[in-house]
Amino acid sequence: MNPAQPRGGSYDRERRAGSRAGQSLQWRLILRILIVEDEAAIADAVNVALAADGHACDVVGDGSEALRWSDAYAYDLVILDVVLPGMDGFGVCSALRSRGFAASILMLTALDDIRDRIIGLDRGADDYMPKPFSMGELRARVRALGRRRLEDRTPKIVVGDLELDPASLGVRHSGREIRLTAREFALLELLARHPGQIFGQDRLIEALWNADFAAESNIVEVYIRSLRRKVDDGRRDGLIETVRGSGYRLRAAERN
Ligand code: CA
Repeated sequence: MNPAQPRGGSYDRERRAGSRAGQSLQWRLILRILIVEDEAAIADAVNVALAADGHACDVVGDGSEALRWSDAYAYDLVILDVVLPGMDGFGVCSALRSRGFAASILMLTALDDIRDRIIGLDRGADDYMPKPFSMGELRARVRALGRRRLEDRTPKIVVGDLELDPASLGVRHSGREIRLTAREFALLELLARHPGQIFGQDRLIEALWNADFAAESNIVEVYIRSLRRKVDDGRRDGLIETVRGSGYRLRAAERN
């Protein structure tokens, strides 16, 4: 399957969000989000707001695209409008759940339509947002769903003398505390959850950035270099290993 390119965020926007997130980090969990909305103005506004919070969003305009994309990528959250061309949001919600989609679904419903909200929750939605909504409230709900997602994660990841705490996003290496930005943490967490496993650039981009990032982009390299500087004092023979021509991995030999 090769889904058509959706609309998404830009590299520049990503970099701006990243540098801001690095300075004051109240909320640092990065979510991979699929926005399903056919009204471009709303979809774009949601995308811009959530990308500014550091999340990686893809945008699609109808239900069948939503199902294809959710099969292709491991999303943490689907923001799903009820009124869509073809299959409506309720149908998409049911279809996602019947396929075993376990992550959060937030539905965009009509204002004051209690019936819509009940149908949505019955079909497996976690939350709803009546339209028109304030972007601040949507962001708060996304944070709340993200926190729930965070609580589902295992308490601590230990690889050799590296410790990651997903709940506090704290990192220690040989007892030394390391401060990472949200995306640096997400990248290190992915590697540390699978020590020894090689992750190609495409796979890392898929997991941590949105589908707009071109495969030839050097963003992964930039982040690996930054992680290496913070975790391994810039050494190339440290924990974060480059496997020439294949990708990156965390050295497994030291795993506890
Ligand atoms: Ca719509």
